[in-house]
Amino acid sequence: MDTHAFKRSLHHSERYNRRGFGRAEEVAENLEQAYQSGLIGTIRDNGYKLTHGRLKVRLAEAFGFCWGVERAVAMAYETRRHYPSERLWITNEIIHNPSVNDHLREMDVLFIPVDEGVKDFSGVTSGDVVILPAFGATVQEMQLLNERGCHIVDTTCPWVSKVWNTVEKHKKHTFTSVIHGKVKHEETLATSSFAGTYLVVLDLEEAQIVVDYILGKGNREAFMQRFAKACSEGFDPDRDLERLGVANQTTMLKSETEEIGRMFERTMLNKYGPTDLNEHFLAYNTICDATQERQDAMFSLVDEPLDLMVVIGGFNSSNTTHLQEIAISRGIRSFHIDTPDRIDETTNSIEHKLLSEDLKRDQIFLPPGPVTVGITSGASTPDRAVEAVIEKLMRLSEN
Ligand code: SF4
Repeated sequence: MDTHAFKRSLHHSERYNRRGFGRAEEVAENLEQAYQSGLIGTIRDNGYKLTHGRLKVRLAEAFGFCWGVERAVAMAYETRRHYPSERLWITNEIIHNPSVNDHLREMDVLFIPVDEGVKDFSGVTSGDVVILPAFGATVQEMQLLNERGCHIVDTTCPWVSKVWNTVEKHKKHTFTSVIHGKVKHEETLATSSFAGTYLVVLDLEEAQIVVDYILGKGNREAFMQRFAKACSEGFDPDRDLERLGVANQTTMLKSETEEIGRMFERTMLNKYGPTDLNEHFLAYNTICDATQERQDAMFSLVDEPLDLMVVIGGFNSSNTTHLQEIAISRGIRSFHIDTPDRIDETTNSIEHKLLSEDLKRDQIFLPPGPVTVGITSGASTPDRAVEAVIEKLMRLSEN
């Protein structure tokens, strides 16, 4: 499929909207009530610090809702206003945050059911309105919804669209897209649907396997086994690793994406020499500003003396997980929770998740005596959730 031509024709369709409905003022109050917080505003004004008795709270200087998420959530609210009685679907969680998705359910927004990892669009009919989430949707989903006569409200973040444009450029110039991302993440699924030939690498270790193969140190069978579910159909490592362009899932760890880019650049330089490098390697910066700012703020925060760290955001939120990785890398006692409800005030315990491990409960969450707690939240976490965590900490510190 000519994905570029399809996208252009979709953008001209009367049943497609990616700019909202001019109802921002009408929904502003609802959004403020649901997501914003007075306490967080006060802490921000106080240099991101709060002291309450023996408790000190340090907030990261960039955290929570990013511009792309705010825009997507506002567009979803506007869509409900604009289509008050139509059936309204969303192809996925609009963002990875349970409270935001619960609010949407309360507004009668239906989520496309998923059966064993496969989305079931059978209930969607002509005239239904379908919202595409902030991290986008695959081109096949867009095509299906378009052919079915649905109204499409596309809240895909422009930063994500920028990555799609990058892989379109790779395709046009017959470069293979090496996508730094999580192969099952919706954004990476969408990005790879716009790519031509592609290979998804999760981390530096996987990138090194690809580099070794390019330099003739790999085994074809082992390579294909490792990347069987992470490459385009018919991918041939002997043919498709000669011309590479790097793109990324916007919420990956910035330093890792940069390192992967440098690894491939060095490899192509070694193999083909400086004169021909441009024939074999293409790089565009596709790391989103918001992700970068939140990671930078986290690096500053963990430089302060902290007794513990609470990271708030959906468990399937990639950017939140990366924030916790930063705390862990500094040896800080850190807790990733998806909602304030994970903190049990009566027992001073917390149910949390450590990267890919299962949920576990820790006792003596807030230790006795003076305590400094660092707090941050992922790009899809409303301030209200951060506020509720801080209020719980304040009450616990009074015991
Ligand atoms: S994290 Fe970045 S790419 Fe993702 S929605 Fe926010 S601004 Fe857009």
